[in-house]
Amino acid sequence: MNRLRNFLQPFVTYGAYPFTLALCLAVCIYAVWRQLDFQAVYGPLVMGLMAFYLVIELLFPLKREWGMTFQDFIHRDMKFLVLNGVVQGMGQATVGWIAITLSLDSKGPLQNVPFYFALPIVFILSEFLHYWYHRLSHEFGGRVGKFLWRTHAAHHLPDRVYVLMHAVGHPLDLLAMNILMMAILPPLLGCTPDVTFVFVVISNLHGIVSHLNVDIRAGWLNYIFSLPEVHRYHHSTDVTEAKNYGSVWMLFDQLFGTFVYRPGELPLQLGVAEPAKYPESTRVFAVLTMPFRPEAPNENLSQTGTNATTENHHRPRSPESGS
Ligand SMILES: [Zn+2]
Repeated sequence: MNRLRNFLQPFVTYGAYPFTLALCLAVCIYAVWRQLDFQAVYGPLVMGLMAFYLVIELLFPLKREWGMTFQDFIHRDMKFLVLNGVVQGMGQATVGWIAITLSLDSKGPLQNVPFYFALPIVFILSEFLHYWYHRLSHEFGGRVGKFLWRTHAAHHLPDRVYVLMHAVGHPLDLLAMNILMMAILPPLLGCTPDVTFVFVVISNLHGIVSHLNVDIRAGWLNYIFSLPEVHRYHHSTDVTEAKNYGSVWMLFDQLFGTFVYRPGELPLQLGVAEPAKYPESTRVFAVLTMPFRPEAPNENLSQTGTNATTENHHRPRSPESGS
């Protein structure tokens, strides 16, 4: 089994992401060309991607201690999945479906704009809003900054990053980052269903992939897309490297100087800089009420930097394919 896994590891490392990206692009091109029923295509495609990456993650973990455990799933992930299910169905998957449905009859400034102009506009606008909302959640001061960080911190409390961990977050944070920027924005702009379909498919692919606990190496694509090699740094306990605020693209991180990428290296530790100041991530009620409690931590990631590891201690990645 180990020999087979070692044999397959390079295909996973260098092939899994390009394969799914090519698959999504091919489905998008065909669906738009043939004007398929976008709602019918969207669900199976996203569920298939999710299943594919869950299996890959199970068989080819980058670091076992960063992977999902049965305990984590029962005591944390499942609770957040159910909770956020109330807010947005099965995570981003349903958000995308809502966006396509709302686009069927949407009116707005982009409704008569050709597909090839409307698509980059919705991507850039959504990414811009996401980038700044996310960055301000980490770096903004004052009462607003503290509130934003306390809602966003729920997503950073786990000391590991894996596919289903993507759904771990405060509903208020998900409301802003997913529902407003992904489900509401395209129909509000008047995007046609084909534009919205491509937008939500590519967005969802990167939502799933970016949190993957697998040794994915995508080379120059890391400079363009939010992939595990760059997004993992966003979850580092070292605040000097916990950047990369982009959701799908690295465009605004490149533009505003928050892009961190060290090929062949991994962050030492994942989570928040000072976990003792926060409730356990499995104590869901405490995590959810954190933004509203006076004794809640007042520091966001950037402000806790003085106590965090500020030297760049990194170690090369070591996939656990042989163990
Ligand atoms: Zn964050």
